[in-house]
Amino acid sequence: MSDFSKQLDALSERLSQPQNIVVIPHKDPDGDAIGSSLAWFRVLNAAGHKTTVVLPDAAPSALMWMESSSAMLVYAEDAEKVLACIAEATLLFFLDFNTLSRTGKLAAVLQESPLPVVLIDHHPFPDEALTEIMFSEVKVSSTCELSYVLMKALNFVPDKAAAECLYTGIMTDTGMLNHNSAHPAIYKTVAELLELGVDKDKVHREVFHSSSASRMRLIGHALCNKMHLLFGGQVAYIALSDEELQGFDYQPGDTEGLVNMPLSIEGVEIAALMTEKEGGQIKMSFRSKGKLAVNTFSEQYFSGGGHRNAAGGEFWGLLSDAEVRFKESMKIYLQEVHLQEVQL
Ligand code: 5GP
Ligand code: MN
Repeated sequence: MSDFSKQLDALSERLSQPQNIVVIPHKDPDGDAIGSSLAWFRVLNAAGHKTTVVLPDAAPSALMWMESSSAMLVYAEDAEKVLACIAEATLLFFLDFNTLSRTGKLAAVLQESPLPVVLIDHHPFPDEALTEIMFSEVKVSSTCELSYVLMKALNFVPDKAAAECLYTGIMTDTGMLNHNSAHPAIYKTVAELLELGVDKDKVHREVFHSSSASRMRLIGHALCNKMHLLFGGQVAYIALSDEELQGFDYQPGDTEGLVNMPLSIEGVEIAALMTEKEGGQIKMSFRSKGKLAVNTFSEQYFSGGGHRNAAGGEFWGLLSDAEVRFKESMKIYLQEVHLQEVQL
């Protein structure tokens, strides 16, 4: 873990006076984004700061069981309220993202804001221009794991509900402690969260075992009928059209975890999922094993980024064209990787 003593001093100093804080995670929020936002919302409120969570766009309904989730404002649904809230704020918290573009349409508003910013994140290559109070650590599993460490350093004790939010983010970003979870400290944090009262079975039921039958059928369809293996079985991809998704009564969050599944096939090193959204946008998700970096691949070919082994991006156009671009760019990428290995 990096030495954050300077940033902690700066944050303590700020929080020594009551603040009006707006907490903002990235667009298309996942368990880590919502979990860390609501946990900070609860501890900051409890410490006497007026706090509001503002989402660029709505959270998946599967995460709305978390306590305080109904108090979150959504920019895409209530821009006026959000703008009024930011106008009154004295401090911004940016959670689980490393560059403003990850906040979607809210980025233009935040770009203009003169407010001091606290950034807490675990993605590589953070935009250093965002703030001096930057807590950026790639060695942790999640923003929730890092948040717990920082809360402890600031003498904030999460209540049961905040602890459940943090636990959720750790579980979702690690695939239930499957990846990014080889550092012993994460198990100490998980143990401490359980000691704070986390109802582990409830969280797992809500997050991982509350699928609809149509979601299960969609996953089955994707794996059975839509998974393609390329380059001798090293690469797998699934492309789902809007029509297919609607045929399975698609709800936001229904494809969560699907992109990881082909990585369980022996020999598959890279997996991709393409999903067709409204207005000609194709959402790209990438996962990889070991040293293969999908964040740089996504940045180069799909205007995206993320972590080395889990990244996302986008493509504008037809789904079939996204598939072609993926196959062509992956061919180049694998050739480059191979060349680098030969040179080493
Ligand atoms: P997912 O595939 O689950 O949507 O995203 C995987 C990882 O990539 C997450 O850490 C997420 O923050 C990052 N990511 C997803 N989409 C984008 C994107 O469009 N741009 C960037 N820079 N990162 C993304
Ligand atoms: Mn995260």
